[in-house]
Amino acid sequence: MDMTTKSCREFVTVLASNEPAPGGGGAAALVALNDILTSEELPTLVVLITAGLGIMIGSVTFTGSLIAAGKLQGVKFLRKLTLPAKGVWNIGFIVLTVVSFVMLCVQPEQRLLWCVLTTVFSLCYGLVFVIPIGGADMPVVISVLNACTGTAVAMSGLAINNIALIVAGALVGAAGVTLSLAMSKAMNRPLMSVLAGGFGGGASAGGDADGPEGTMKESADDVAVQLVYADKVIFVPGFGLAQAQAQRELADLGDLLKGHGVEVSYAIHPVAGRMPGHMNVLLAEANVPYEELIDLDDINPQFPSANVALVVGANDVTNPAARRPGTPVSGMPILDVDKAQNVVVMKRGRGKGYAGIENELYFEPNTQMLFGDAKAGLQSVIAAVKELI
Ligand code: NDP
Repeated sequence: MDMTTKSCREFVTVLASNEPAPGGGGAAALVALNDILTSEELPTLVVLITAGLGIMIGSVTFTGSLIAAGKLQGVKFLRKLTLPAKGVWNIGFIVLTVVSFVMLCVQPEQRLLWCVLTTVFSLCYGLVFVIPIGGADMPVVISVLNACTGTAVAMSGLAINNIALIVAGALVGAAGVTLSLAMSKAMNRPLMSVLAGGFGGGASAGGDADGPEGTMKESADDVAVQLVYADKVIFVPGFGLAQAQAQRELADLGDLLKGHGVEVSYAIHPVAGRMPGHMNVLLAEANVPYEELIDLDDINPQFPSANVALVVGANDVTNPAARRPGTPVSGMPILDVDKAQNVVVMKRGRGKGYAGIENELYFEPNTQMLFGDAKAGLQSVIAAVKELI
């Protein structure tokens, strides 16, 4: 990926962070409802269409984002919730919503009735659309919902002729669409498959009932020695690095090793963390040079020649289960960390990643676990490395 593409991605990331935003869609729907229902004269067709779209898209986004936010917060009930015959529910509510919207445009004198029905059916569609989605599909859906929020706001802006809403909504909508396309490509999930109600293992992300084979080596005494005597080290940052705010410590460790003649690179998975480009932004903040941030396609062939892969708070993006069908992360491109000669994983404990499944990497014979907060752990490793060099 060239510098321009990277900068564009970071710009887009700033414009539309990948967190569900129910409030935006709900507010847009309320603005549009207020405009149609409080006007004394019959609204024009243009107002009916734009406000109707604002109500529809805003309401879908509202309930969809609430469910997505709940799943993201790890609410167990929501993560386990499934929807039998999801296709029937989806199509049913789409048809009902569109019919009410058309009737609103055709019979504006009955606008209270059609507005209420359009709102109710759209709210229901938001629920049935997001409930079956989980695992690696979730980030794509969240960015689609954010794109919808922007579109709903722009539509409501058109209905009430408010330039600020139109511009802000169009910007967020365009950034959301760009992000959705980038993410569905990065996660190897065709957008239409995700929108049709899930691609991978569904919401529960329960994983294999038997769990991975092998034993987890829960001690890594000689990490500093391994790093100092390595020719090539690859750092693999993930959400835990952001959670611990340990980017500066990781960059300091990189600088120490580079000063000692070790080749150091940072493996960047496109959806590591909680928004696309999260790791790029985080490491740029710690002044890691751009050339050392290597994208998935370029870094994967390098893992077999790496003496040590140091995984810092990354989980799902390194899970070899993605290479097998039938898991919540199936088909998602991963960093081939398991192919490195030695792997050290820094995380607090046995907590699972976003997809909620066990990581097979942790049970590989070449993997050692270094449990603890990433920031404190890296500070200890830095101290130990300083004593050795
Ligand atoms: P994961 O969420 O899979 O795993 C993060 C790991 O970090 C956890 O297993 C946790 O384990 C560990 N951790 C948490 N806090 C700390 C800490 N303070 N110190 C050390 N370790 C810590 O992260 P990945 O980056 O590997 O993957 C991202 C996931 O998020 C993917 O599944 C992706 O689909 C999803 N996602 C991505 C979005 C995006 O746009 N990038 C948006 C939404 C979701 P423990 O508790 O044991 O410490």
